[in-house]
Formats: sequence, structure tokens, C-alpha cells
Amino acid sequence: MKKMVLACALALCASTAMSAEIVPIAAGIDLIPGEFVPNRQPDGNSLIFRTPTGLVVMDTGRHAEHAQRILAYAQQAKLPIKAVINSHWHLDHIGGNPRIRADYPGVQVFASAAINDAMHGFLANYRKQLEEAIAQAKDASKTQPWRDEIAIIDAGHALYPDVIIDKTQTRRIADRDFVLHLESHAVTAGDVWVFEPKTRALAAGDLVTLPVPFLDTACPAHWKIALDDLAHADFKTLVPGHGAPMSRAQFEAYRKAYDNLYTCAASSKEKGICIDGWIADAKPLLGNTDPRFVKSLVDYYLDNSLRAPKAKLDKLCGAAPSPAS
Ligand SMILES: [Zn+2]
Repeated sequence: MKKMVLACALALCASTAMSAEIVPIAAGIDLIPGEFVPNRQPDGNSLIFRTPTGLVVMDTGRHAEHAQRILAYAQQAKLPIKAVINSHWHLDHIGGNPRIRADYPGVQVFASAAINDAMHGFLANYRKQLEEAIAQAKDASKTQPWRDEIAIIDAGHALYPDVIIDKTQTRRIADRDFVLHLESHAVTAGDVWVFEPKTRALAAGDLVTLPVPFLDTACPAHWKIALDDLAHADFKTLVPGHGAPMSRAQFEAYRKAYDNLYTCAASSKEKGICIDGWIADAKPLLGNTDPRFVKSLVDYYLDNSLRAPKAKLDKLCGAAPSPAS
């Protein structure tokens, strides 16, 4: 568990900075990119859908500054935030929920119910690790980011959905139709991705992340199936959970890279071959990301996820626990 937190920290340290400018995606849809800066936990991307009656926000980031950008957008647009859709419960996607609720008490939050178990499992463990890290820190001035993480977790029900998405469905939210797709046990136990038929924009959440798939809480087999589901959607632009918007061709390159990595991991091929395979397949999507950094991440996820012990994967894949022997 400790190692996982460290790996996350690593992901932040070495990632390239991404501009926080607003990126237009389609008519009435803008992206507030999640920021990656050295030595800091990331924010996921936020996608904002403007309707005549208000805004629908897909994912709210982690840090106060990210939530502030969403609130500033609403102020500038002179429109209330009517709804939030959370792709999944990772803190870099739900952290801004309490701030948005504070400014817009009528906001409706849509998400799967997976945060329930996460609060008692993964996030409870993570909170414990943060407390330990704070207690052991030699330099108290460096502990603020950990305290901020704890503060998000302690927001408790302000992070939770008001409307639980328990199956794929079309919803009219703020006078606009959204197809909310539910994937079970892919990145988390319940992931929501959104297709907006009018503009054919698709918000994938962390079912698409670069420079590698972030597999910490994932079932690799179901993630592969979820990517096939995304491929069936008639999208024009796909917005990943982290990284720049993708065309269909770019997404197909990502899907192929994932398939190859998954297949390689399931074989007896040595790790280096699988790592090099990902780097070659994903090359057009990696921009100028340091290949050594990508290598270290794939290496980590091969050991800790793709080739993890069956019992760990069974749990993440939602398989019924085998009877105690
Ligand atoms: Zn994320």
C-alpha cells in the first residue's frame, strides 16, 4: 500500500507541466485541463457543458485552485452549476465537489455508488498512511499537501453522489441529453463515462490516461472491455481523465497499446519486452514525456497490477471471494 502512494507521488514528480488554459472541445463544451506540476498530486481534467439554464461539470479536480477555476468559469458565464458528474471516486476527480456544493447548494451530483466501499477500504487506508507520514515527517512545513488530502477525505458525504448511476442510461440534465455509461470494476468498482450525442463529445474519465494506464485500483481485464465499449461510441472527440483531447485515431492507438500490454503481461515474456512494447505503441501519444519515466511506471504496474497475484486481481475485478480453506 505504501508503495502505491509512493508510485503516485512519482507520477506527479516527473510529469510534464500541462497548461491550465481553457480548451474549447465543441460548441458549448470546454475543457479545464487538470494540472500536472512537479512534486504535486495531479488534478483530473474537468469538462464543462454549457446549457441555456446552467452548467454541467464532469469531474471537479483535487486542489482548491482547480475548483476555483471551475467556479470562476461559472461566474464568467453568468450561469449556475446545475450538476456535477463524477467519473469515479479518485480524489483528483471528486476533490472539488464540496467547494461547488458550498457555492451552489442546489447542485446535483451524479456518480456510481463505488465511493461507499472506497471510503471504508482504499481511502481509509490511504488516510492512515497520510497520518503516519505526517507523524514521521522531519520537516513539518512539508506536510501541508498530506493534510489537504486528509481534508478532502474528511469532507465525507459532501463528496458522495446525490443521484447514483447504477446502470447505463440517458439522462436529461440542465435541458441537455447525456448518455451516462457505467463500467463495473474497470478503473474502480464503478466508472461513469459520458457521451453527449449533439456534439459527439465523449468524456472517458480515467479509462483513458497518459502516459500509461493508472492501474492502482483497476481490474486490467475489465479495463480492456471498457475500452472496447468506448470504441463503440460514435464520438468525434474523446477527453481523457488526464492528458489532451483525442481524435478517434489517437484513441484507437491507445486501445491497441493497452491490448498489447495486457496480452504481453499475460504471457511469459520478460518484463522489458512488455515495457518496450508499450513505449513503441504509445509513442505517438506520449509527446515529449521522458521515456525513462514511462518505463518506470509500466514496470511498476506490471508488478503491482497486470501481473499481481490472482487474489488481488480477483478482488479488484469483483470476483466473489473464494471460501476460506
Ligand atoms: Zn485521475
